[in-house]
Amino acid sequence: MTLTYDPGGGEAFKAAISRIPGFPAAEGLPMRFMVFESNALLRLGGYLAQAGAQPSQPLAVVMDETPMRRAGADLKAQVLAVLRAAGWQPQVIALTPDTTGQVHTDFGQIRQVQAQLTPTTALLAVGSGTVTDVAKHAAYCLQQEQGGPALPFVVYQTANSVSAYTSNMAPVFVEGVKRTLPSRYPDGLVCDLETLADAPPEMTVAGVGDLLAAFNSYADWWLAGRLGLDHTYTEFAQTLMGPLDEIFLANAEAIRTRTPAGMALLAKLIALGGLAMSLSRATAPLSGFEHVVSHVLDLEAEQARRPLAQHGSQVALATLLTTAAYDRFLTTFRPGDALEDLNAWYPSAETMQARIESAFAYLDETGAVAAECWADYQLKLEQWHAQRAAFTAALLDWPAVQARLRALTQRPERAAQILRAVDAPRRFQDLTPAPSEAEVRFAFLHAPLIRKRLTLGDLLVFGPGDKEAAWHSAWDRAQWVGGLEK
Ligand SMILES: [Zn+2]
Repeated sequence: MTLTYDPGGGEAFKAAISRIPGFPAAEGLPMRFMVFESNALLRLGGYLAQAGAQPSQPLAVVMDETPMRRAGADLKAQVLAVLRAAGWQPQVIALTPDTTGQVHTDFGQIRQVQAQLTPTTALLAVGSGTVTDVAKHAAYCLQQEQGGPALPFVVYQTANSVSAYTSNMAPVFVEGVKRTLPSRYPDGLVCDLETLADAPPEMTVAGVGDLLAAFNSYADWWLAGRLGLDHTYTEFAQTLMGPLDEIFLANAEAIRTRTPAGMALLAKLIALGGLAMSLSRATAPLSGFEHVVSHVLDLEAEQARRPLAQHGSQVALATLLTTAAYDRFLTTFRPGDALEDLNAWYPSAETMQARIESAFAYLDETGAVAAECWADYQLKLEQWHAQRAAFTAALLDWPAVQARLRALTQRPERAAQILRAVDAPRRFQDLTPAPSEAEVRFAFLHAPLIRKRLTLGDLLVFGPGDKEAAWHSAWDRAQWVGGLEK
């Protein structure tokens, strides 16, 4: 099964996607190129030139300290050797881990890179999501603060792990809470298929997992629109990505065994995922309830000074929970009951602020996390109250709302089938490090409290329904489908 929109197609790709309804014609897509090729590494100097860089410029190469191999040899040494042989003068900016032993996208890392850039630097990121985001956002901040032209910036993607590489946004930890900040696109993306095939398998399957978010995020985005809290919904992302479940199942064996064709296909899907969000001007198309659950798991790990699990695999497992929650909600929700007791759906600001403060005291006794969450949540709660008429209208039109949400979601069995076919983790206990069931429960029940965007999770929080029952049902279903052997 081939992609309807192939990001390796150059100008023809750009022309084709510009005709999809919802494409932001005024902005367009400023990336100059995306390549998905065998031995693209050997042409890296040419790609830098294509991005507008010149060998006479200083070339900052942002990397972390993770050892990486390509075709039996050190990848980073190969990158630097290729560049030097082509007449470039690479200067490495090394990102060093924090006390958890990992590099995270935070302003400590971003400022450290930014301090080593000048308006005449060309920039190359060699790494996966975090390295790309740190480099990207450092270049963005430099330009915001000093003006002048944007630095030529190329991403050399070292793993098919996360849909970050083609994004013009950056997820940054602020007070331990992940926030999506406006950032910039790279000028070019280089996917060397040999590099991607040699990346750790757990990163490759995480890339599949990150995209499974679509199984409930499209519905969350539409729901927020139907309830009057978000006016950005379009079908651009769905059209661009195509039928993800069918594409994954048709190519699962090639992805699992990391063939060049499998690596190219997954890299292209990941690139499309980043573009789907950037061109929709929001992460909403591929980040709903499942991503906020994952963000709370990250928050719990951060506060416990524990490394983060693979983002995409954590998201995939959260997707099993949230698609199970959708299925239950769409089966059991009774709009008539809600209409009869509508006031029960509108908790006061005082109630919710107290709830956030007491909930997050468990993670952070300074109150900084709760304050960061409340600042964002407050906006959503105000809108929810202000848009009461939209909720009432949706309740009165429930069969249509229910049918639309059904059409936009997939069942957890489908997600689990894909995870199984690519040999990805299927239960939370398979993650490294694994969160406890209690931590997953906390994340599921409190995820809506950390972000201003509405998802199904908010209906579970606002409503008077039994939250423990919703959690147990989602957990049991996710554990069940994750454990199925076929
Ligand atoms: Zn993600």
